[in-house]
Amino acid sequence: MGVGRIDLRCDVGALVTPGVFPFPGTLGPRPDGYSAGVVSELNLILFGPPGAGKGTQAERLRKDFQVPYIATGDMLRAHVKDGTPLGQEAKRYMDAGDLVPDELILAMVRDRLERDDAQDGFLLDGFPRTREQAEALEEQLRSLGRRITAVLLLEVPDAEVVRRLSGRRVCVKGGHNYHVEFDPPKHEGVCDQDGSRLVQRDDDKPDVIENRLRVYHEKTAPVVDYYDERGLLRRIDGTREAADVHDHIRAVIATLRLEEDF
Ligand code: ADP
Ligand code: ADP
Repeated sequence: MGVGRIDLRCDVGALVTPGVFPFPGTLGPRPDGYSAGVVSELNLILFGPPGAGKGTQAERLRKDFQVPYIATGDMLRAHVKDGTPLGQEAKRYMDAGDLVPDELILAMVRDRLERDDAQDGFLLDGFPRTREQAEALEEQLRSLGRRITAVLLLEVPDAEVVRRLSGRRVCVKGGHNYHVEFDPPKHEGVCDQDGSRLVQRDDDKPDVIENRLRVYHEKTAPVVDYYDERGLLRRIDGTREAADVHDHIRAVIATLRLEEDF
């Protein structure tokens, strides 16, 4: 931990899963207690337009790989809820569907990646969203002798994004995702997993969705080229059923592990 660093942490509660990464090359912990000392890192980025299914996949992947899930949108919403100075500053950008300025995001993520539970790997969602953020992340990891393992791009066309975002409902407690049509809860308006209330996010209203998509194409989509040039990009068809998308991602990660072993 650095000296004199500003502490931007806040309670993101269930949104962060501490833990260790299981045995490399498999999709679960190895039964013979393989030494944690030789386990390689799994530093993943879930990438794609708003509504591509990143949060939905992250929920599944967190059960496969015990790396912390770091979603900048969730972290920011926790700051807004807690009324922190960062939350107060970020809110107006989020409400409009604009990006929160890089310097605020970078300080928040830098701090999060320095925490103990992120030392063996992480699953990033919603970050980086600009080329500057991608460069800063690379620089931070490089200074620690670390690097990104892969960037998983969930490809979904705009029309589907609009359909997904306008029907999205999230639970107020754990942030679990539902869709009124594609993935409804068992009981209307109630989260299957923790029984809390389901709400529509303020930025999932039509005019804000339109701006978020515009911002994605203008500022975030160029980051795809950045990772493609570095050979880190893996394209996933995000229009398929959530279970199929999950299977595809697991297969991609298993392949990455095999490549690493050779
Ligand atoms: P979605 O799940 O729809 O992709 P997020 O929950 O990731 O959206 O983000 C919600 C909002 O939080 C964004 O519209 C933006 O205002 C802000 N935000 C999240 N991550 C970032 C980031 N890396 N850079 C700038 N703004 C961000
Ligand atoms: P993101 O985190 O990328 O913004 P979410 O995971 O929140 O996206 O998904 C957006 C909406 O689309 C949610 O309502 C979710 O239930 C739904 N959804 C996610 N994946 C799929 C899928 N493969 N097919 C249909 N709907 C999906």
